[in-house]
Amino acid sequence: KKLGFAIVGLGKFAQQQMMPAFKECKHARITALVSGSPDKARKLAREYGVEEKNIYSYDNFDSIKDNPAVDVVYIVLPPGLHAEYTIRAAKAGKHVLCEKPMANSVADCQKMIEACEKAGKKLMIAYRAQFEPFNLDAIARIKKGELGKLRQITADHGRSVKPTEEPAEAWRVQKKLAGGGSLMDIGIYSLNATRYLTGEEPVEVTAQEFSDKSDPRFKEVEDTIHFTLRFPSGVLASCTSSYSIQEVKRFRAFGDKAWLDLDPATDYYEHHMTIGDKDGKRQPKIKEGNQFAAELDHMAECVLQNKTPKTPGEEGLKDIRLVMAIYEAARTGKRVKV
Ligand code: NAD
Repeated sequence: KKLGFAIVGLGKFAQQQMMPAFKECKHARITALVSGSPDKARKLAREYGVEEKNIYSYDNFDSIKDNPAVDVVYIVLPPGLHAEYTIRAAKAGKHVLCEKPMANSVADCQKMIEACEKAGKKLMIAYRAQFEPFNLDAIARIKKGELGKLRQITADHGRSVKPTEEPAEAWRVQKKLAGGGSLMDIGIYSLNATRYLTGEEPVEVTAQEFSDKSDPRFKEVEDTIHFTLRFPSGVLASCTSSYSIQEVKRFRAFGDKAWLDLDPATDYYEHHMTIGDKDGKRQPKIKEGNQFAAELDHMAECVLQNKTPKTPGEEGLKDIRLVMAIYEAARTGKRVKV
């Protein structure tokens, strides 16, 4: 059985990555579109075989409650709108898949979790890397002890944000819509990776930030932020996030026997693993897989089998709590216990 998904926000990521991925899904299909641009919605509806009566605007979105063709609402709006649309979807009696970062504040994350609980609906945060084969393979190798005892992790995410050249970048430098700068948008991949690679929750963070305030991009949000995380087992993670460097999406986990590198680690399609030990370096062969389709099918399976998603609202909340602790550490220059 395929569940019906309503796509809320037909922007760059929805159109270029997620909507095409439905073609590879076993349990998910697009049955409705929610957009502020009727022409764009009609064009995409034709392309994806969505009935015109299942096109909604942001104003009449709540009437989606009367549409049995929609089981899951997938929110692909800027983060500042995630809480509002998750709560409206839950009130409409729909399950929710929401893009990362979950929301702009811990309080909003909690409201989203409560709204879905109250409605008896699933809430999943779209952490695609946790459905990506190279990342899953890395987690399995660390768990099996292939690296020996895990001691440290480094993780870097960066790119050059260009709000004047690219429409999808305009909200990314506005605090109200983005919640923050590079940390909220891409540094969160470094942060989330340290948690899924260790399988632990950090207990302490430190951070430093640098943003050139004369650069109009960084009037409201941060550019570069470095942070460290201390985990209960003693693992130390050192992470970087930047909006003004050439693109990077990588991490490396270091054990007392070997290290494992993914570069890129969190790209859309191509990944690369290297393992180094006393005998030298090797590149294990791992089959690429469609992480977007795997994530969508997982959401559908959780609804069909009444299971808790692997990346529920609580997973998004944990990251947002840590993001706030990192901002506090950067602002105060002090270690922050979490
Ligand atoms: P985008 O700007 O291309 O898309 C956002 C959409 O929201 C647009 O269609 C825009 O018209 C619509 N929108 C509705 N109300 C708006 C408002 N008040 N202000 C601005 N836009 C409004 O951005 P995107 O890159 O597609 O990102 C959308 C979401 O997806 C974000 O939450 C982002 O973090 C997430 N994302 C996730 C990944 C991933 O790999 N998981 C990658 C890119 C983006």
